[in-house]
Amino acid sequence: MATPAELLEDTREQGLKELDDFLRIPSISSQPDHAEDVRRAAAHLAERYERVGLENAEVIETGGHPAVYADWLKAPGKPTVLVYGHYDVQPVDPLELWKSPPFEPIQHDGQLLARGSSDDKGQIAIHWQAIDAWLKATGELPLNLKVIAEGEEEISSVHFDEFVKANTERLRTDYCVISDTSMVAKGFPAITYGLRGLIYFEVRVEASRVDMHSGLMGGVAPNPAQALAEILMRLKDPAGHVLVPGFYDAVRPLGEEERRQYARVPFDEAAIKATYGLSALHGEPGFSPTEREWARPTLDVNGIWGGYQGPGSKTIIPAWAAAKISCRLVPDQEPDEMMDAVKDYIETVAPKTVRVSVTELSQGEPWITPMDHPLIRAAHRSLTRTYGKEPALIRSGGSIPAVEVMGRRLNAPCLLVGFVLPDSFAHAPNERLDLDSFYAGRRAAADLWEEIAALQA
Ligand SMILES: [Zn+2]
Repeated sequence: MATPAELLEDTREQGLKELDDFLRIPSISSQPDHAEDVRRAAAHLAERYERVGLENAEVIETGGHPAVYADWLKAPGKPTVLVYGHYDVQPVDPLELWKSPPFEPIQHDGQLLARGSSDDKGQIAIHWQAIDAWLKATGELPLNLKVIAEGEEEISSVHFDEFVKANTERLRTDYCVISDTSMVAKGFPAITYGLRGLIYFEVRVEASRVDMHSGLMGGVAPNPAQALAEILMRLKDPAGHVLVPGFYDAVRPLGEEERRQYARVPFDEAAIKATYGLSALHGEPGFSPTEREWARPTLDVNGIWGGYQGPGSKTIIPAWAAAKISCRLVPDQEPDEMMDAVKDYIETVAPKTVRVSVTELSQGEPWITPMDHPLIRAAHRSLTRTYGKEPALIRSGGSIPAVEVMGRRLNAPCLLVGFVLPDSFAHAPNERLDLDSFYAGRRAAADLWEEIAALQA
């Protein structure tokens, strides 16, 4: 009898064909005229799950685009793992920049070009093909497994929290595995164990009912644009350190092992500068750019406006000025507490001659699984075996709402492991999937289950 790994070696072409079929469905979640395609992709995936031998496959309504669920629960006493992916994709414009039609996959230089090839249909396919190999080779899985594929990840997972809440029993699990991130480089796997959270708010400064004549009222009335600038200057010092009292109190300090791990990940300063046309980098002193991105909180002005912005000159003192500001948060900062701290501080430092209001627009919790958690250690052993190289333990500066939702609603530790390369052009023209990494990913996914099966249920 062939092992799952041997079977995967023999079924590369079939695996690629299965992925090709899936990629041809333009499941763009943000565009209403593709709503039927999104449903078609969901039905296609449910059928695929059935075909590989998963049970209870179902397209489940969410109030928006549906989710797809299936399971295999015949390993009594063994842990249960819930595998998450998303089958919706980003829009494709500008279409003229694509080398080939985005929903007609082609192979080019060892890459498969298509929208969704890496983000995230390719990673969903990696998992169903690893499951398929297990069931074909051994007739069973080494643990209990549930899969959930979301159809709204690219539109901020709008219904996912509600969906998980309504399906807590069905989704109940010991561990979550999410494959929607990338590796460090070809052959260099990564485990992402932390994500940043967010608070987003608007500051509005007002002084008069209407714009005033700067000749008559200049030197007489307060200027809201000037007052806003003064407030912003008090929020963060020129070196990049946030000045809001208590802002850093809950920040989990970086450990030695974390710093050692981050230093393994190459950071190409020259390339970053060239990509964005930057003349210099900037950020909190005492931390590397990677440490700042992954493990330190930020405060950034996202937009600032007010007063006269048309051509030529118009001599006014504006009635009001406003700014939108985001703070990226890290464990263990609480969004509500940080919002309160920022609000109080702005009210304290605002000039008394103007009225200031702070309106919260959105928030998200930071997320972390400790890097020495048994789930992370298990994945570390497995990936080291598959790739012949120790995975980097990294975090991400962004947020994945579904991860935070599953961690909170299902009260289960999450493992983020991706099998695609960072230069996959996700969300951009010519999205691609490196085929060597696809085949290695199938082996890695198949290998993972035995290590997790040995953990406590
Ligand atoms: Zn994705």
